[in-house]
Amino acid sequence: MLATEFERVSMPLAEPFGIARGVQTEAENVVVRVEDEGGMTGVGAAAPSSHYGETADTVEAVLPDLLSVVEEVGDAHAIDRIEREMAETVRRNPAARTAVSIALHDLAAKRLGVPLYRLWGLDPSRTPTSSYTVGLADLDTMREKTREAYEAGYDVLKVKLGTDRDRAIIEAVRDEAPGATVRVDANEAWTPREAVEMTEFLADFGVEFVEQPVPAEDREGLKFVYDRGALPIAADESCVTADDIPHIADRVDIANLKLMKCGGLTEAKRAIHAARAHGLEVMLGCMIETNAAIAAGCHLAPLLDYADLDGSLLLADDPYEGVPMPNGGIDLDALDRPGTGAVET
Ligand SMILES: [Mg+2]
Repeated sequence: MLATEFERVSMPLAEPFGIARGVQTEAENVVVRVEDEGGMTGVGAAAPSSHYGETADTVEAVLPDLLSVVEEVGDAHAIDRIEREMAETVRRNPAARTAVSIALHDLAAKRLGVPLYRLWGLDPSRTPTSSYTVGLADLDTMREKTREAYEAGYDVLKVKLGTDRDRAIIEAVRDEAPGATVRVDANEAWTPREAVEMTEFLADFGVEFVEQPVPAEDREGLKFVYDRGALPIAADESCVTADDIPHIADRVDIANLKLMKCGGLTEAKRAIHAARAHGLEVMLGCMIETNAAIAAGCHLAPLLDYADLDGSLLLADDPYEGVPMPNGGIDLDALDRPGTGAVET
């Protein structure tokens, strides 16, 4: 017997968050809870992205159908079956399905009394450090954000680009964070030719890789940048589900997966292994998410080359606490509770 409920949470951001497509000041997530007959509760959350056609409204519209699958199956350990039946019930809406998947995994691990990574048998000593994102803003604000993050101890920074002042931004970032690992995300903003020129400039500043230089659908452009550019290339908007991986495998170096794109933790693991099988490195990113979702992503960290799991850090006040992430380090060993570790603060 399983009981379910969901609730929308509107969370103001600590500061406005800008990317090449626009600025966000608030994140709307939908928290899902699944409770077993003994009163034990698993929690998960959807962080819908309008870029992929989802909003809190669409999540709330499909959750009753998804949660009736959970209640009909009624077994917290029948995760594969529930995820398969959910995907048959609601084909799109991956963030909504992910919220339920996370809640089920949290509950199953809690029932067994182990953190989720232990249920999966993963090695907690092999977690990459998460980047901290410096969003687009005016140059002085980006300089200040970089200095604050670097002085606070974040030494992996992801800098949003895709403006007419990209070069000045990187010069400022390097000034303020000389020893940091810096990666950049253009969020589809460049033409292939601009992207190649930018990789040459960015390589001189020791940038590690470039994420989504050109529009998602421009796979030829991606190939152009991959063949001629001076830095490794990561695909984010071009890599939504595991099905995209064969199409990008010969034109990027890194697949940036996100739980909210994949549709659940089982599907995220399938995508990670598919990417590896195609010779790609793997990064797990996120939307602006409460720890009720981010915590689950942290348990996949031992399977990753790169992590960008700072969604909760960008919130003014996350209603959930998750896996300890001192300065972006994903410290699964320090997690002293079962499940994903997400608890209300
Ligand atoms: Mg991205």
